[in-house]
Amino acid sequence: MSKFKKPSQKEAQDAVKTLIAWAGDDPSREGLLETPKRVVNAYKEFFSGYDIDPDSVLGKTFSDVSGYDDMVLLKDMRLESHCEHHIVPIIGKAHIAYIPNKRVVGISKIARLLDVYSKRLQTQETLTAQIAKTIFYVLRPKGVAVLIDARHQCMTTRGVKKNNSTTITKMMIGNFKEDINLENRFLNMISLNS
Ligand SMILES: [Zn+2]
Repeated sequence: MSKFKKPSQKEAQDAVKTLIAWAGDDPSREGLLETPKRVVNAYKEFFSGYDIDPDSVLGKTFSDVSGYDDMVLLKDMRLESHCEHHIVPIIGKAHIAYIPNKRVVGISKIARLLDVYSKRLQTQETLTAQIAKTIFYVLRPKGVAVLIDARHQCMTTRGVKKNNSTTITKMMIGNFKEDINLENRFLNMISLNS
C-alpha cells in the first residue's frame, strides 16, 4: 500500500462536517452535532481490514486430518464491504472452497480472511481475486474456488437503480481451473448450477 499521512481523528471529523454541508444541511444543528464523530467511528469499523496482514490470518495449518483430501467449502458467508468508487455498501454472500494438499487451515480463518479484505475499500473483482490468491499462496492447496454474489448499493440506490440486480464474480485457481467437473461440483454445492 502506498505511504501517505493518516489524518487525525479531528481532521477526519472536520471532513465529515464538510460533506454534511455539501449535502445541504447545517452541521451545527443539534441532531447532527455528534454525527461526524459517529461517522468516523463507523469508518474505523468498516475499514478495520487495513490494519491486519491477510497472510498472517491463515496462520497455523494442520496436517493431521486422517487423510481428508476432498473439497473444504464454506458457503453462504455474509459479505459486507464498501465499493471504492462511491463508498457505499456491497452486501452479499461469499462461497470459498479449497482442495487441501495434505494441510488444512482452521475454517474460521477463512471467514476471517474474507473479513480482512472486505473491510477495505473494494471492487468485487479485486476482493474475489485477493481472497483466492491469498489462500493459494499461503496454504498451497491443490486448488481454490471463490464465488461472490452481492448487491451494490451504488447500483440499487443511485445511478442506474437496478434494484434487484446482483453481481457474481468468481475465481478458480489450480485444479478448479483445470478441471471443469470440479468447478461444476463447486457450483452445484453452492446451488448456482441448476
Ligand atoms: Zn460503487
